[in-house]
Amino acid sequence: MSATLLDGKKLAESIRKGLVPRIEALKNKAIIPGLAVLLVGEDPASISYVSAKEKACEELGMKSFEKRLPANASEAEIVSVVKSFNSDPKVHGILVQLPLPKNVSETKVIEAISPEKDVDGFTPENLGRMMIEEPCYLPCTPHGVIKLIETAGVHTKGANAVIVGRSNIVGKPLSVLMTRKSINSTVTVCHTGTKNLAEHTKRADILIACAGVPELIKGDMVKPGACVIDVGVNRVTDATKAKGWRLAGDVDFNAVKEVAGSITPVPGGVGPMTITMLLFNTVEAAERSAVRK
Ligand code: NAP
Repeated sequence: MSATLLDGKKLAESIRKGLVPRIEALKNKAIIPGLAVLLVGEDPASISYVSAKEKACEELGMKSFEKRLPANASEAEIVSVVKSFNSDPKVHGILVQLPLPKNVSETKVIEAISPEKDVDGFTPENLGRMMIEEPCYLPCTPHGVIKLIETAGVHTKGANAVIVGRSNIVGKPLSVLMTRKSINSTVTVCHTGTKNLAEHTKRADILIACAGVPELIKGDMVKPGACVIDVGVNRVTDATKAKGWRLAGDVDFNAVKEVAGSITPVPGGVGPMTITMLLFNTVEAAERSAVRK
């Protein structure tokens, strides 16, 4: 059996198309949705994520503002940039590219972002509101995963969903969203303390891999017909590539596609959805600012 491919690129394009008239309506009120991006240090993966996000903004006629700080920037300097974005009326959404250098508390920096501009959905206020299903900005990757699952028509009600990973930005919020009544899955969250990972993954009707371990999920760990969402983006050495590496997900794609019912590719699955949900949240933030005016 060969699984149906869940095309994140195509879905992302259609969501972006839906944003165009909303951006036009804002421009008619002299508001251009603006995303401010703060990048600290020179991590090549972070630089490439930031430029992809900025390019996506510009393609839709939105504005992006970038501030770069050196890797040795202090926490106070970083927080001060965040605060300047908070008070800038041209900025509707703020993105601090993670990870931050080890000497800086990510929690403190995230807490400095105004919840009204927290389009990544990482502040305690937004995460709390997500828990109690109040209006908020949903974290972009989990939101993108939910959109992929819903659009594919995957049966979620009463389904066993297994999430491999419990980070604050992916696994934990996904576990909350998958248990919402509108989705109604029964959720198991696995992590490095989980005994016998395969025992859990084999029971999954919906398996979401977000561990950051290349090709962790093998074919014999997947239930036949399952929906498999691969969030992982990992650089693995590959001497056959000119750059010496290739991107690999957390799922052994070639083996798992023979067992699963549907599967996301890497690249072209969750990645484009993450960027799109960031644009979605930024447009929403600009619309909310127009209402407050
Ligand atoms: P993270 O903060 O490193 O968290 C990884 C989680 O996976 C942790 O909870 C860890 O458990 C768990 N884990 C690690 N190895 C495991 C194993 N062998 N068995 C079971 N659980 C294991 O990573 P993250 O930020 O959530 O990102 C996860 C992956 O998604 C990365 O590859 C990242 O690049 C990718 N990502 C992609 C997008 C996108 O847009 N496509 C967005 C964000 C992240 P413990 O808690 O016990 O340590």
